[in-house]
Amino acid sequence: MKQDYYQVLGVSKGASPEEVKKAYRKLAIKFHPDKNPDDKEAEGKFKEASEAYSVLSDADQRARYDQFGHAGLGQGGAGFSGDFRSFAQDIFGDIFGAFFDQAGGGPSRGRDLSTRLSVTLEEAASGIEKEIDIERPEGCETCAGSGAKPGSQPQACVQCAGSGQVQIQQGFFAISRTCPRCGGNGSIISDPCKPCSGEGLVLKESKLSVKVPAGIDHGQRLKLRGEGEKPAGGLPAGNLFVEVLVEKHKVFERRGRDLICEIPITYSQAVLGAELDIPTLTDSEKLKVPSGSQSGKIFRMSGRGVPDLQSGRPGDLMVRVYVAVPKSVSGKEKELLEQLAEVEGKPVAEEVSFFERVKEFFE
Ligand SMILES: [Zn+2]
Ligand SMILES: [Zn+2]
Repeated sequence: MKQDYYQVLGVSKGASPEEVKKAYRKLAIKFHPDKNPDDKEAEGKFKEASEAYSVLSDADQRARYDQFGHAGLGQGGAGFSGDFRSFAQDIFGDIFGAFFDQAGGGPSRGRDLSTRLSVTLEEAASGIEKEIDIERPEGCETCAGSGAKPGSQPQACVQCAGSGQVQIQQGFFAISRTCPRCGGNGSIISDPCKPCSGEGLVLKESKLSVKVPAGIDHGQRLKLRGEGEKPAGGLPAGNLFVEVLVEKHKVFERRGRDLICEIPITYSQAVLGAELDIPTLTDSEKLKVPSGSQSGKIFRMSGRGVPDLQSGRPGDLMVRVYVAVPKSVSGKEKELLEQLAEVEGKPVAEEVSFFERVKEFFE
Protein backbone atom coordinates (compact mmCIF):
# COMPACT_ATOMS: atom_id res chain seq x y z
CA MET A 1 0.00 0.00 0.00
CA LYS A 2 1.43 3.32 -1.05
CA GLN A 3 1.05 6.26 1.25
CA ASP A 4 -0.58 9.42 0.06
CA TYR A 5 2.11 11.75 -1.28
CA TYR A 6 0.58 14.79 0.41
CA GLN A 7 0.58 12.96 3.72
CA VAL A 8 4.18 11.88 3.20
CA LEU A 9 5.27 15.48 2.82
CA GLY A 10 2.78 16.71 5.42
CA VAL A 11 1.18 19.30 3.18
CA SER A 12 -2.43 19.95 2.17
CA LYS A 13 -3.83 19.10 -1.27
CA GLY A 14 -3.85 22.74 -2.14
CA ALA A 15 -0.23 23.35 -1.13
CA SER A 16 1.70 25.73 -3.39
CA PRO A 17 4.86 24.50 -5.17
CA GLU A 18 6.77 26.64 -2.68
CA GLU A 19 5.19 24.83 0.26
CA VAL A 20 5.87 21.45 -1.31
CA LYS A 21 9.51 22.40 -1.77
CA LYS A 22 9.85 23.61 1.80
CA ALA A 23 8.25 20.48 3.20
CA TYR A 24 10.52 18.22 1.18
CA ARG A 25 13.56 20.23 2.12
CA LYS A 26 12.80 19.70 5.80
CA LEU A 27 12.36 15.95 5.40
CA ALA A 28 15.34 15.49 3.11
CA ILE A 29 17.65 17.23 5.54
CA LYS A 30 16.25 15.24 8.45
CA PHE A 31 16.39 11.82 6.79
CA HIS A 32 19.31 12.21 4.40
CA PRO A 33 21.46 9.02 4.37
CA ASP A 34 24.61 11.05 4.97
CA LYS A 35 23.14 12.25 8.21
CA ASN A 36 21.69 8.87 9.17
CA PRO A 37 24.25 6.25 8.22
CA ASP A 38 23.00 2.67 8.56
CA ASP A 39 19.52 3.79 9.56
CA LYS A 40 17.07 1.77 7.44
CA GLU A 41 14.01 3.58 8.72
CA ALA A 42 15.44 6.99 7.90
CA GLU A 43 16.48 5.73 4.50
CA GLY A 44 12.92 4.52 3.85
CA LYS A 45 11.49 7.89 4.87
CA PHE A 46 14.03 9.66 2.71
CA LYS A 47 13.05 7.57 -0.31
CA GLU A 48 9.34 8.08 0.35
CA ALA A 49 9.78 11.83 0.61
CA SER A 50 11.98 11.96 -2.51
CA GLU A 51 9.41 9.99 -4.49
CA ALA A 52 6.54 12.16 -3.25
CA TYR A 53 8.47 15.29 -4.10
CA SER A 54 9.44 14.05 -7.54
CA VAL A 55 5.75 13.68 -8.35
CA LEU A 56 4.30 16.70 -6.59
CA SER A 57 6.98 19.07 -7.89
CA ASP A 58 6.05 18.21 -11.47
CA ALA A 59 2.84 20.05 -12.42
CA ASP A 60 1.88 17.45 -15.02
CA GLN A 61 2.42 14.43 -12.79
CA ARG A 62 0.79 16.17 -9.87
CA ALA A 63 -2.36 16.81 -11.91
CA ARG A 64 -2.53 13.15 -12.90
CA TYR A 65 -1.94 12.07 -9.33
CA ASP A 66 -4.68 14.40 -8.09
CA GLN A 67 -7.13 12.93 -10.57
CA PHE A 68 -6.26 9.22 -10.54
CA GLY A 69 -4.10 8.67 -7.47
CA HIS A 70 -1.10 6.33 -7.69
CA ALA A 71 -2.76 4.50 -10.57
CA GLY A 72 -2.46 7.64 -12.66
CA LEU A 73 1.30 7.45 -12.61
CA GLY A 74 1.60 4.25 -14.61
CA GLN A 75 3.71 1.16 -13.93
CA GLY A 76 4.89 0.82 -10.38
CA GLY A 77 2.56 3.56 -9.28
CA ALA A 78 5.23 6.20 -9.23
CA GLY A 79 6.66 8.41 -11.89
CA PHE A 80 9.94 8.04 -10.17
CA SER A 81 12.16 5.02 -10.34
CA GLY A 82 15.70 6.33 -10.29
CA ASP A 83 18.39 6.27 -7.68
CA PHE A 84 17.11 8.26 -4.73
CA ARG A 85 20.52 9.22 -3.56
CA SER A 86 21.56 10.75 -6.84
CA PHE A 87 18.14 12.36 -7.08
CA ALA A 88 18.81 14.08 -3.77
CA GLN A 89 22.35 14.83 -4.90
CA ASP A 90 20.91 16.66 -7.87
CA ILE A 91 18.75 18.62 -5.53
CA PHE A 92 21.53 19.29 -3.07
CA GLY A 93 23.86 20.05 -5.88
CA ASP A 94 22.99 21.00 -9.40
CA ILE A 95 19.37 21.13 -10.43
CA PHE A 96 17.98 23.21 -7.65
CA GLY A 97 21.27 24.73 -6.62
CA ALA A 98 20.12 27.34 -4.18
CA PHE A 99 17.12 25.23 -3.20
CA PHE A 100 18.57 24.26 0.13
CA ASP A 101 20.18 27.59 0.68
CA GLN A 102 16.96 29.49 0.61
CA ALA A 103 13.97 29.82 2.90
CA GLY A 104 15.26 29.55 6.38
CA GLY A 105 18.76 30.66 5.62
CA GLY A 106 22.11 28.94 5.69
CA PRO A 107 23.56 26.19 3.54
CA SER A 108 22.31 22.60 3.53
CA ARG A 109 25.54 21.32 5.01
CA GLY A 110 28.86 22.59 6.29
CA ARG A 111 31.57 23.36 3.79
CA ASP A 112 34.52 21.05 3.29
CA LEU A 113 37.78 22.25 4.78
CA SER A 114 41.35 21.25 4.15
CA THR A 115 44.56 21.28 6.10
CA ARG A 116 48.07 19.85 5.89
CA LEU A 117 50.02 17.44 8.03
CA SER A 118 53.76 16.78 7.88
CA VAL A 119 55.14 13.35 8.66
CA THR A 120 58.62 11.87 8.43
CA LEU A 121 59.38 9.12 5.95
CA GLU A 122 59.64 6.69 8.85
CA GLU A 123 56.16 7.70 10.03
CA ALA A 124 54.75 7.39 6.51
CA ALA A 125 56.19 3.89 6.24
CA SER A 126 54.99 2.63 9.61
CA GLY A 127 51.74 4.57 9.83
CA ILE A 128 51.02 6.83 12.76
CA GLU A 129 48.27 8.52 14.69
CA LYS A 130 48.85 12.25 15.04
CA GLU A 131 47.05 15.04 16.76
CA ILE A 132 46.36 18.18 14.79
CA ASP A 133 45.01 21.57 15.78
CA ILE A 134 42.49 23.09 13.45
CA GLU A 135 40.43 26.23 13.47
CA ARG A 136 37.04 25.71 11.88
CA PRO A 137 33.72 27.54 11.64
CA GLU A 138 31.12 26.08 13.98
CA GLY A 139 27.53 27.06 14.67
CA CYS A 140 27.35 30.17 16.84
CA GLU A 141 25.90 29.29 20.25
CA THR A 142 24.76 32.82 21.00
CA CYS A 143 22.29 32.95 18.11
CA ALA A 144 21.96 29.19 17.47
CA GLY A 145 23.25 29.81 13.99
CA SER A 146 20.52 32.22 12.93
CA GLY A 147 22.87 35.20 12.79
CA ALA A 148 20.28 37.37 14.49
CA LYS A 149 20.93 39.02 17.85
CA PRO A 150 19.27 37.04 20.69
CA GLY A 151 15.78 38.38 21.21
CA SER A 152 15.49 39.40 17.57
CA GLN A 153 14.51 37.26 14.60
CA PRO A 154 15.63 37.20 11.00
CA GLN A 155 12.80 38.89 9.13
CA ALA A 156 11.29 37.16 6.14
CA CYS A 157 12.37 39.06 3.06
CA VAL A 158 9.47 41.13 1.73
CA GLN A 159 10.65 41.06 -1.86
CA CYS A 160 10.64 37.27 -2.25
CA ALA A 161 8.28 36.41 0.64
CA GLY A 162 10.95 34.24 2.18
CA SER A 163 11.53 31.99 -0.81
CA GLY A 164 14.88 33.51 -1.76
CA GLN A 165 13.76 33.52 -5.40
CA VAL A 166 11.94 36.13 -7.41
CA GLN A 167 10.00 35.52 -10.60
CA ILE A 168 10.72 37.71 -13.54
CA GLN A 169 8.20 37.70 -16.37
CA GLN A 170 9.77 37.53 -19.80
CA GLY A 171 7.17 37.19 -22.49
CA PHE A 172 5.43 33.89 -21.82
CA PHE A 173 8.02 32.69 -19.39
CA ALA A 174 8.48 33.30 -15.70
CA ILE A 175 12.13 33.00 -14.84
CA SER A 176 13.37 32.40 -11.31
CA ARG A 177 16.23 34.52 -10.07
CA THR A 178 18.05 34.74 -6.77
CA CYS A 179 16.38 37.47 -4.78
CA PRO A 180 18.58 40.59 -4.94
CA ARG A 181 17.31 41.92 -1.63
CA CYS A 182 18.23 38.95 0.61
CA GLY A 183 20.79 37.28 -1.65
CA GLY A 184 18.72 34.08 -1.72
CA ASN A 185 18.58 33.64 2.06
CA GLY A 186 14.87 34.34 2.21
CA SER A 187 15.41 36.38 5.32
CA ILE A 188 17.07 39.59 6.34
CA ILE A 189 18.95 40.13 9.57
CA SER A 190 18.42 43.69 10.73
CA ASP A 191 20.06 43.19 14.13
CA PRO A 192 23.07 40.89 13.67
CA CYS A 193 24.45 38.70 16.45
CA LYS A 194 27.72 40.16 17.81
CA PRO A 195 29.97 37.09 18.28
CA CYS A 196 29.42 35.86 14.72
CA SER A 197 28.71 39.20 13.02
CA GLY A 198 25.48 37.76 11.67
CA GLU A 199 27.22 34.84 9.93
CA GLY A 200 25.80 32.20 12.27
CA LEU A 201 29.27 30.66 12.46
CA VAL A 202 32.26 31.37 14.67
CA LEU A 203 35.84 30.10 14.41
CA LYS A 204 36.68 27.50 17.02
CA GLU A 205 39.87 25.62 17.73
CA SER A 206 39.75 21.86 17.90
CA LYS A 207 42.18 19.04 18.45
CA LEU A 208 41.70 16.09 16.15
CA SER A 209 43.37 12.74 15.97
CA VAL A 210 44.41 11.74 12.45
CA LYS A 211 45.21 8.15 11.56
CA VAL A 212 47.89 8.19 8.87
CA PRO A 213 47.92 4.76 7.21
CA ALA A 214 51.21 2.98 6.57
CA GLY A 215 52.44 3.58 3.03
CA ILE A 216 50.94 7.02 2.51
CA ASP A 217 52.76 9.08 -0.09
CA HIS A 218 53.56 12.76 -0.35
CA GLY A 219 50.53 14.81 -1.40
CA GLN A 220 47.88 12.17 -0.73
CA ARG A 221 44.73 13.31 1.04
CA LEU A 222 42.87 11.76 3.93
CA LYS A 223 39.17 12.42 4.37
CA LEU A 224 37.81 12.98 7.85
CA ARG A 225 34.06 12.70 7.55
CA GLY A 226 32.06 15.31 9.39
CA GLU A 227 35.12 17.20 10.65
CA GLY A 228 34.70 20.18 8.34
CA GLU A 229 32.54 23.21 8.97
CA LYS A 230 29.90 22.43 11.58
CA PRO A 231 26.80 24.53 11.09
CA ALA A 232 24.16 24.92 13.79
CA GLY A 233 20.67 23.48 13.67
CA GLY A 234 21.58 19.85 13.17
CA LEU A 235 22.69 20.35 9.57
CA PRO A 236 25.34 17.84 8.48
CA ALA A 237 28.92 18.97 8.93
CA GLY A 238 31.32 19.19 6.00
CA ASN A 239 34.37 16.98 5.65
CA LEU A 240 37.96 17.76 6.46
CA PHE A 241 40.63 16.83 3.95
CA VAL A 242 44.12 16.37 5.34
CA GLU A 243 46.90 16.60 2.79
CA VAL A 244 49.88 14.58 3.98
CA LEU A 245 53.34 15.99 3.34
CA VAL A 246 56.18 13.52 3.67
CA GLU A 247 59.39 15.26 4.68
CA LYS A 248 62.58 14.74 2.68
CA HIS A 249 64.84 12.11 4.21
CA LYS A 250 68.57 12.58 4.72
CA VAL A 251 69.48 9.11 3.51
CA PHE A 252 66.62 7.70 1.48
CA GLU A 253 64.93 8.82 -1.67
CA ARG A 254 61.49 7.34 -2.26
CA ARG A 255 60.16 6.05 -5.57
CA GLY A 256 56.71 4.65 -4.95
CA ARG A 257 57.21 1.67 -2.68
CA ASP A 258 60.98 1.49 -3.26
CA LEU A 259 63.67 3.36 -1.42
CA ILE A 260 66.99 4.34 -2.89
CA CYS A 261 70.17 5.15 -1.03
CA GLU A 262 73.74 5.77 -2.11
CA ILE A 263 76.56 4.26 -0.09
CA PRO A 264 80.20 5.26 -0.60
CA ILE A 265 82.80 2.49 -0.57
CA THR A 266 86.58 2.65 -0.81
CA TYR A 267 88.63 1.45 -3.75
CA SER A 268 89.92 -1.46 -1.71
CA GLN A 269 86.39 -2.46 -0.63
CA ALA A 270 85.31 -2.42 -4.27
CA VAL A 271 88.26 -4.55 -5.33
CA LEU A 272 88.41 -6.96 -2.39
CA GLY A 273 84.71 -7.10 -1.50
CA ALA A 274 83.27 -6.09 1.87
CA GLU A 275 80.40 -6.47 4.26
CA LEU A 276 78.65 -3.14 4.75
CA ASP A 277 76.21 -1.89 7.37
CA ILE A 278 73.29 -0.47 5.41
CA PRO A 279 70.78 1.76 7.19
CA THR A 280 67.12 0.77 6.79
CA LEU A 281 64.05 2.74 7.89
CA THR A 282 63.83 0.81 11.12
CA ASP A 283 67.35 -0.42 11.82
CA SER A 284 70.43 -1.42 9.85
CA GLU A 285 71.35 -4.53 7.95
CA LYS A 286 74.43 -6.23 6.52
CA LEU A 287 75.02 -6.18 2.78
CA LYS A 288 77.72 -8.27 1.11
CA VAL A 289 79.47 -6.40 -1.65
CA PRO A 290 81.33 -8.99 -3.74
CA SER A 291 84.92 -8.46 -4.84
CA GLY A 292 85.27 -6.57 -8.10
CA SER A 293 82.10 -4.52 -7.64
CA GLN A 294 82.00 -1.57 -10.00
CA SER A 295 81.20 1.94 -8.90
CA GLY A 296 77.47 2.56 -9.45
CA LYS A 297 76.40 -1.04 -8.99
CA ILE A 298 72.94 -1.40 -7.47
CA PHE A 299 72.04 -4.00 -4.87
CA ARG A 300 68.43 -4.79 -4.09
CA MET A 301 67.43 -5.49 -0.49
CA SER A 302 64.06 -7.15 -0.82
CA GLY A 303 61.19 -5.99 1.39
CA ARG A 304 63.09 -3.11 2.97
CA GLY A 305 61.09 -0.39 1.23
CA VAL A 306 57.78 1.26 2.09
CA PRO A 307 54.58 -0.82 2.32
CA ASP A 308 51.93 -0.48 -0.35
CA LEU A 309 49.01 1.61 0.91
CA GLN A 310 46.44 -0.96 -0.24
CA SER A 311 48.08 -4.36 0.04
CA GLY A 312 50.63 -3.59 2.75
CA ARG A 313 53.29 -5.38 0.69
CA PRO A 314 56.62 -3.62 1.13
CA GLY A 315 58.82 -2.45 -1.71
CA ASP A 316 62.60 -2.87 -1.87
CA LEU A 317 65.60 -0.89 -0.79
CA MET A 318 67.98 -0.22 -3.67
CA VAL A 319 71.53 0.39 -2.56
CA ARG A 320 73.79 2.06 -5.06
CA VAL A 321 77.44 1.78 -4.12
CA TYR A 322 80.00 4.15 -5.54
CA VAL A 323 83.73 4.37 -5.09
CA ALA A 324 84.56 7.53 -3.20
CA VAL A 325 87.94 9.04 -3.85
CA PRO A 326 89.36 10.62 -0.70
CA LYS A 327 90.37 14.26 -0.98
CA SER A 328 93.36 13.67 1.28
CA VAL A 329 95.07 10.60 2.68
CA SER A 330 97.42 9.90 5.55
CA GLY A 331 101.15 9.48 5.01
CA LYS A 332 100.89 5.72 5.43
CA GLU A 333 98.05 5.45 2.93
CA LYS A 334 99.98 7.57 0.44
CA GLU A 335 102.98 5.32 0.80
CA LEU A 336 100.93 2.19 0.19
CA LEU A 337 99.16 3.73 -2.79
CA GLU A 338 102.48 4.67 -4.34
CA GLN A 339 103.63 1.09 -3.92
CA LEU A 340 100.39 -0.08 -5.48
CA ALA A 341 100.87 2.24 -8.44
CA GLU A 342 104.36 0.89 -8.91
CA VAL A 343 103.14 -2.73 -8.84
CA GLU A 344 100.39 -1.95 -11.29
CA GLY A 345 102.85 -0.20 -13.61
CA LYS A 346 100.12 0.00 -16.20
CA PRO A 347 96.76 1.66 -16.78
CA VAL A 348 93.77 0.48 -14.74
CA ALA A 349 92.89 -3.10 -15.70
CA GLU A 350 89.43 -3.27 -17.24
CA GLU A 351 87.77 -6.04 -19.22
CA VAL A 352 88.34 -4.05 -22.38
CA SER A 353 90.85 -1.40 -21.61
CA PHE A 354 90.23 2.24 -22.27
CA PHE A 355 93.18 2.33 -24.67
CA GLU A 356 91.87 -0.57 -26.72
CA ARG A 357 88.52 1.18 -27.04
CA VAL A 358 90.27 4.36 -28.18
CA LYS A 359 92.17 2.33 -30.76
CA GLU A 360 88.96 0.72 -32.06
CA PHE A 361 87.39 4.14 -32.33
CA PHE A 362 90.11 5.42 -34.71
CA GLU A 363 90.23 2.31 -36.86
ZN1 LIG B 1 25.72 34.38 16.33
ZN1 LIG C 1 14.46 37.94 -0.73
